[in-house]
Amino acid sequence: MKNNLKFHNSISGKKETFKPIDNSQVLLYGCGPTVYDSPHLGNFRTFVFYDLTIRVLELNDFSVKSIINITDIDDKIISRANSEKIAINEITDKYESVFIEQWNKLKNQPPTQFIRATDNITKMISFIGHLLDENFAYVVNRSVYFDSRNPKINYEKFVSVEEVNEDQNSEKKYQSDFALWKAWKKEDKEIFWDSPWGQGRPAWHTECAVIASNYLGNSIDIHCGGIDLKFPHHQNESVQVEALSEDIFTKYWLHSEHLLFEDDKMSKSLGNILSIQSLEKEFSIESIRLFLMSSHYRSKISFNRNLLIESQKMISKIERFIDNFNLRLSSPSFKNYDFTNQEIDFINALNDDLNTPKALGVFFNFLNEFNKKNISSSNNLHNSERYKAESFVNLFNSIFQCLSDSSSNPFPENVQKLLESRELARNKKNWELSDQIREKLSELGWNVEDSSQGQKLIRKK
Ligand SMILES: [Zn+2]
Repeated sequence: MKNNLKFHNSISGKKETFKPIDNSQVLLYGCGPTVYDSPHLGNFRTFVFYDLTIRVLELNDFSVKSIINITDIDDKIISRANSEKIAINEITDKYESVFIEQWNKLKNQPPTQFIRATDNITKMISFIGHLLDENFAYVVNRSVYFDSRNPKINYEKFVSVEEVNEDQNSEKKYQSDFALWKAWKKEDKEIFWDSPWGQGRPAWHTECAVIASNYLGNSIDIHCGGIDLKFPHHQNESVQVEALSEDIFTKYWLHSEHLLFEDDKMSKSLGNILSIQSLEKEFSIESIRLFLMSSHYRSKISFNRNLLIESQKMISKIERFIDNFNLRLSSPSFKNYDFTNQEIDFINALNDDLNTPKALGVFFNFLNEFNKKNISSSNNLHNSERYKAESFVNLFNSIFQCLSDSSSNPFPENVQKLLESRELARNKKNWELSDQIREKLSELGWNVEDSSQGQKLIRKK
């Protein structure tokens, strides 16, 4: 299977067969969050896409070393710290924890390492010094800029010099030049580091260039990010590393599209914030994940509650299938496993540039066919048939991760809360309230049965 994995490479604009630089390990870098606020659903579209990429690589028997940076020094962080009159790390610690908690909640595998920018400032200063020594950079008023017109570099990765249109008043020599080190200004207050060029802090493009090249090397297999990072961030990150190396920095650039909200790009600046916390009150975390994975990563999707309801229904359908045939959810290894033809179709869809909608189609076709064939004999299903169904469900879940195991809470938060209030009402023998809550649960799609073991929730069919 290893031979038919294809990714759309933003450099060539084409799907290319994936061949790692070194067969033993795939090196993958993903641009992480700027930790000054809770990440929104649009950010997590990108992060779930990183997780999908890694899971599909692993399904193809590649071992993956992955690094995701945490931007914990940035203009937005500084201005928030100043406006709230608190220390910068009070903000970054808080939102880093929120990010990691939600990362895990959405069933993303932890990367090999999350790396904070501020843990690597010394490395960034020496990297910038090196660029200055080699004449790839210059100092103006204690800031350092990259010289995009240096004849020894190939600046034009995604965008040409002529296409760069930035402010004319900058102290830079050319519009396409960009900051490596930003000199201290009074709004920065006590937030600065000492450097040979004066007090200041590294710029964002340099943070990623240094973290990627230090933890993975000057030449990596896959660099992931949201489409808005392609230029200037990824181009500027790439030219810095390539200026000091003989190699091509990144072999495959993978970019995911935006999540739109009422046709605008979902970003904090537009005020279209949909946080995981608020969505979780209405929808299960698994349906949020499935919603994010159900369209192809390179197509724009518009946020729509109905799509989340649709995902919830898809999950219910799989869960009913598991119940009907009494299947066991587990996380088996698929190494040396003999895949069926339908499973191969599922994997081929994923291997074709992570075509998740197609893979979902293959999986649901299987469920429908299997149901038709076996539903009448679900109680005495042949073991080989049960094994087939169980394997495919587990294969599906190894990528989509939208079926909860019994250890996690399978109900949305609002359903869980209603269930708890009903329990209290019943303990107080308040049968009227208990019945009202039963009604509410029924409106939300759940039947509740009372037994000697307590309340049992059953999804309505
Ligand atoms: Zn980055």
